[in-house]
Amino acid sequence: MKKDKILVIGACGQIGVELTLALRKMYGDNNVVASDLREEHDLLKGTGPYVSLDVMNKEMLHVLVIRHNITQVYLLAAILSATGEKNPLLAWHINMQSLLNVLDIAKEEGLDKIYWPSSIAVFGPSSPKVDTPQHTTIEPTTIYGISKFAGERWCEYYNHRYGIDVRSLRYPGLISYKSAPGGGTTDYAVEIYHEALEEGTYKCFLSEDTYLPMMYMHDAIRATIELMEAPGEKISVRSAYNLSGMSFSPKEISAAIQQHIPDFTISYEPDYRQEIANSWPQSIDDSQASKDWGWKPQYDLAKMTEDMLKNLKKQKG
Ligand code: NAD
Repeated sequence: MKKDKILVIGACGQIGVELTLALRKMYGDNNVVASDLREEHDLLKGTGPYVSLDVMNKEMLHVLVIRHNITQVYLLAAILSATGEKNPLLAWHINMQSLLNVLDIAKEEGLDKIYWPSSIAVFGPSSPKVDTPQHTTIEPTTIYGISKFAGERWCEYYNHRYGIDVRSLRYPGLISYKSAPGGGTTDYAVEIYHEALEEGTYKCFLSEDTYLPMMYMHDAIRATIELMEAPGEKISVRSAYNLSGMSFSPKEISAAIQQHIPDFTISYEPDYRQEIANSWPQSIDDSQASKDWGWKPQYDLAKMTEDMLKNLKKQKG
């Protein structure tokens, strides 16, 4: 039997660090090769193999896959929503070509499984805002959303046409304390905890009643692993599954923080990211993920806030 050998691309990002550590626990440290353009993240150092990789260089990627006998790839490298709007052509190029490089190598080398995350950013102003369904009008207005939607179609195409076992989730905004977020519209929900502890106040780049779908990183990592571990016949969606954790506004997260830090204050100065947020859903219907592979989130806003503040306090000494 072939042994699983995993390559994580974009391993030093907000999701990559935690996902790599979780995969190393499950598959064994040496069976999970971490890679990124950046220098190795401090939390990954000494935990397993690390290689420097530009996923845009298909030849280099191909050699790496062969040399390390890779059987599964987790592709996390991408340009996120807020950064993407600053350079749309670059975001399109990187987000698309990275995926096509991985899918094509998966086809050529007969890889077992591919994971590539999509995002709630696939939905646009014409999608229903509340409990946005799995299948609905999808007309994204950000380049990030457009690239994610196109990526979903490519994933489904490679599955149907070539039988590649590619799986995907439409992550909501992810909140974590281990690794910093990488330029998304929901980054405020991470920054706010840091600023609450360091400054006691936070200036928010979204308005107070902007509701967005969010998820604590523990849930996101668990969802990713549960999806990837599910038997193939349970996976009915080969584009990307809707995934839901919680929904809240800046006003509500600040009230949750005030439960622990009563003097905490927040002010609002919406910038270009407000328009991106306005185009996205407020909450997501993930019943297909629950039905197919048993998805159920464990963290709500109160539980996440307690855990975030406890861990950040420890980190900041
Ligand atoms: P991130 O920006 O924190 O990390 C991405 C990593 O990819 C970075 O470490 C970066 O150095 C690396 N990278 C960029 N270009 C590369 C290249 N050419 N070659 C190799 N590595 C490269 O992003 P993240 O938040 O960890 O997101 C990971 C994935 O999840 C992305 O596809 C993103 O769109 C998706 N996603 C994230 C969120 C979120 O809230 N974080 C929400 C929805 C979807």
